Formats: sequence, structure tokens, C-alpha cells
Amino acid sequence: MDLLEAEGFVGLGEFAEAAVVGGDGVPTSWGRLRAILAHVEKHRAAAACAGRGCRVLHAARHDALIARKEGSRRDPRGERQMRIGFVGLGNMGGPMCRNMMKGVNHEVVVHDLNPEAVRACTEAGATAAESLAALAASCDLIFTSLPTPKAVEAVVDGIAPNIRPGTAMFDLSTNAPAVVKRLHAILAEKGVALLDAPVTGGVVRATDGTLVVMVGGEEAVFEQHRSILAAFSGQLVHVGPVGSASVAKLINNMLLLCNSAAAAEGLMIGAKAGIDMGKLTAIIQNGSGDSAGMRGLAARALKGEFKASFALDLAYKDLGLAVDLEAEYGVPGLLAPQALALLRMARGMGFGQLDTTAMLKVYESILGCEARL
Ligand code: NAD
Repeated sequence: MDLLEAEGFVGLGEFAEAAVVGGDGVPTSWGRLRAILAHVEKHRAAAACAGRGCRVLHAARHDALIARKEGSRRDPRGERQMRIGFVGLGNMGGPMCRNMMKGVNHEVVVHDLNPEAVRACTEAGATAAESLAALAASCDLIFTSLPTPKAVEAVVDGIAPNIRPGTAMFDLSTNAPAVVKRLHAILAEKGVALLDAPVTGGVVRATDGTLVVMVGGEEAVFEQHRSILAAFSGQLVHVGPVGSASVAKLINNMLLLCNSAAAAEGLMIGAKAGIDMGKLTAIIQNGSGDSAGMRGLAARALKGEFKASFALDLAYKDLGLAVDLEAEYGVPGLLAPQALALLRMARGMGFGQLDTTAMLKVYESILGCEARL
């Protein structure tokens, strides 16, 4: 009974006893208790339909149990304490997770394949999850920020058997709309709401907490978690149904990458023509040719810095997904497939792990000439 007393569940009769020891007489954990209660909740719905009074009595106790649990997990300001899981703590997920920890008063549990990435968050106050299964079993809200649709699928496979009904999940990755919709359907069967919530603004805005976060899926779930999302966002946009935010994000990145490719090509004309790169970039950045792609090249590539902030491999994935959407919707792909071919060449030349702006190096290699400030 220690656990129940600690959690504030006393005097609830045989219902609580069944919950505390489980079916095998083994004292249960809070995660297990929730799983048992979820089972009972299902049973309650069936029993209520059959009109069996004793089950309704059990259901009332169940509600009392939940109410007590909620009451016991409030912070001094009366806000319900949650456990938030964060999976994928790389260039984007790491700063988003740390900003969230600063902005909210909830316990944060983290997981990443890379122990360094985990350490950067545990040093900021998070707890490292023992496993994905343990994270899934103990969290009310889960964020993922993962490199590819395959990685998101692998993580959902890892958490699905243990995730609790009522959990909300926001996928902050740039994902394929079809994958997001498929995972949404799988998790909906478990009573879990998956929303796609890709972000834009890069590492700089992930670090200063001003990302644009676009969200697709149940609007009520989005509104319920708005204040938590705001901890790492400067602008939140609910786009529409699940998958719609991923479409918006892929269009955004298609524009970024086409603009970057055009800027790299233009800068190489300047380099070959012997124009001063400082003067050229000043003209473009103060003129009508400016773009986020151009600014990225000027800030990094033209200084010879190619360490990944937004890895070229990830840009290739994003643009490939945008080109897939062109095919799906019958939009003639005139520009995006060209930029995709440039990224493919860059990967073939071994630049995939470098920054996206390393697309400039394709031109530099072919022409035997560098564009530098
Ligand atoms: P990243 O490669 O820096 O980070 C990804 C992290 O996920 C890594 O730490 C990796 O170890 C971890 N990971 C991979 N597979 C995993 C698994 N199965 N289980 C647990 N952890 C796993 O990538 P990033 O730049 O942070 O990008 C994350 C997502 O955000 C991508 O979908 C990307 O397209 C998108 N995005 C990136 C940027 C950017 O500028 N970098 C901007 C907007 C959106």
C-alpha cells in the first residue's frame, strides 16, 4: 500500500487493491497502475452498456482514483504536473528540449541514440529514460525530433506497445505527410493523439526559442499544449488536419533549397568573373535577390565553414519529399527536381554530412575555383 499512500490513493477499497498489486500479486509501478486503470476504463464502457450496476460503482471509484491522482500532481501554482518525453536531441531537438525545460514546470525525460546529446539535456535538468518503452509508459506528452520518416517509424514502433491512452504526441521532425497519417491511425487505436508539428527557423531560432511551429491534427489537443509549445516557439500556426503541417513545411523547405541553389549558382558566376564577394553579397542582401538561402551561404559557405547546422542529407530528404508531393498532386516540377539533382551530386561527392550550403562546393569542385569572402 506504500505506493498508493504516496500517490494519495487511500481508502478506495478492493478497486485500489486490485490496482496496486496487479493480477500477479506483484506491487505495481505508477506506469503499471495507469495501464491497469486504462484496462478498467475499457471494461467500464462495456459494462455500462450492459447496464450492470456494480461495474458502475467500480467506475465511480475509478474516477475518484484519477481525480486524486491529478490532485496529487499539482505544483504550488495549481498547474497539473506532467511528465514530458523528448526523443531526438540533435541540432534542433537539443535546444528545443532545453528551452522547453526553462519555460515549463514539468518533469522532462529524454532519449537519444547519441549519449552526448542525452548528456547535454540531463546536465540542464532532464532525466535520461532507461529505454523508449520506459519513456512511453511514464509520459503524458511525447515530442520527437528525428532525422527521417524511418527514424520516426522506428521510435513509434518502440513506444507503441507501452504508450498510455490519453497521451499526446507531437512529431517536430520534417516528415512525409503519408507517414504521419499512417502513424496517426495506428496510435489513434491506442487512444493516443499524434500531431505533426514541424518547425522552421534553423538552429539559431531553435537556440533562442523563436521557431515557427506549424501543427496538423486535433485542434483541441494543440490548444491544450499551446503553452508548452510556446516555450520553444515564436509563432504557432494550426494548419489543419494531421499531415497538413508537413505539407506546409515541405513547401517552405522547397523554397529555401531552390533559393539556396540559385544563390550558389549566382555566386559562382561572380567568383569566376572576379567580382569581390563582399561587395556582391552586400548588393544582393540589400537588394531584390536576397533570400534565407543566400543569407545562409553568406554566413557560412562563403567563409569556408561547412559544419552541419542543417545537414545536406536532411535537405536532400526534405526536397525529395517535396518532389514526391509534386508528383502526387500533378504539379509540374520544373525547379525543385533541378535543386534535388544538385543535392544528389553533392552527396555523391561526399558532402552529405556537411551543411546544406555545401551545395556550393559542387560548383567549386567542377570549376576549380572557390567563392570566398
Ligand atoms: P540531427 O541529426 O542533428 O538530430 C537527430 C537526432 O536524432 C540525433 O541526435 C540522433 O542521434 C537522434 N536519433 C536518430 N534516430 C534515432 C532513434 N531511432 N532513436 C532515438 N534517437 C534517434 O537532426 P536535426 O538537424 O536536429 O533535425 C531533426 C529534424 O528536424 C529533422 O527531421 C530535420 O529535417 C528537421 N529540421 C532541421 C532543421 C535544421 O536546421 N537542422 C530545421 C528545421 C527542421
